[in-house]
Amino acid sequence: TPGLTLVATPIGNLGDLSPRAAAALAEAGAVLCEDTRVTSRLLARHSISAKMLALHDHNEESEAPRLVSRMLAGERFALVSDAGTPLVSDPGYRLVRAAIAAGVVVSAVPGPSAVVMALTLSGLPPHPFLFHGFLPTKAAARAAEVSRIAAVEAAGLSASLVFYEAPHRTGEALAALAEGLGADRPACVARELTKRFEEVRRGSLGELAAHYAVHEARGEVVLCVGPAPAPAAASAETLDEALRAAMATLS
Ligand code: SAM
Repeated sequence: TPGLTLVATPIGNLGDLSPRAAAALAEAGAVLCEDTRVTSRLLARHSISAKMLALHDHNEESEAPRLVSRMLAGERFALVSDAGTPLVSDPGYRLVRAAIAAGVVVSAVPGPSAVVMALTLSGLPPHPFLFHGFLPTKAAARAAEVSRIAAVEAAGLSASLVFYEAPHRTGEALAALAEGLGADRPACVARELTKRFEEVRRGSLGELAAHYAVHEARGEVVLCVGPAPAPAAASAETLDEALRAAMATLS
């Protein structure tokens, strides 16, 4: 059947490709991939022979209409990214949007994604959670983004936060989060998930920032931060007190 199938692939352990994912890749007329070198290794490992087409941030906008026409004409494509679930901090959204708009049937074979694995291992409340993806890489833009998150929290958002980060920026990102959200916030650094040196380090933002300032993180990293403390519920006494103080300023 024609259409588009979003296929999740492993985030480090090639054994995590599901049988259904392998079948979807083998049955597709072509596999749309971020980097054909990365996907060809995955296909070879599973003895899948499939045609590959590159679809990445630089050609997605221009290629989407052509690919959608081919699907409308009867072709079936699978979409993968280098690792994990396509569209999650990866290309694919523009193609999916164009396919939906044209009435193409879009389906998915779910599987690994670092955001969900990190969140579930963090020991932090799993919902609500806010997946931010990557923070800006420049210090000023990153601090501004963290301030925006702090402002939304001050307005009442109380959710666990999840960020993707490059290993060499882990220390500075944690420092910026500690500075903007509070050094006491519980947090976790999930590193090299599903791989040989998988590690989950839990602590306050301040503790983790201090650790990674000294020991540069290696490999792939997800940062999780526990929810902002809910504002203390006002008791009858504190409300009376506040009312008396307010009345006093009126008289
Ligand atoms: N689409 C992927 C997913 O579903 O998780 C994410 C792609 S994004 C370009 C790559 C980032 O995801 C990395 O910089 C890291 O923050 C995170 N990541 C991917 N694989 C990981 C792993 N095995 N362990 C920890 N973090 C990982």
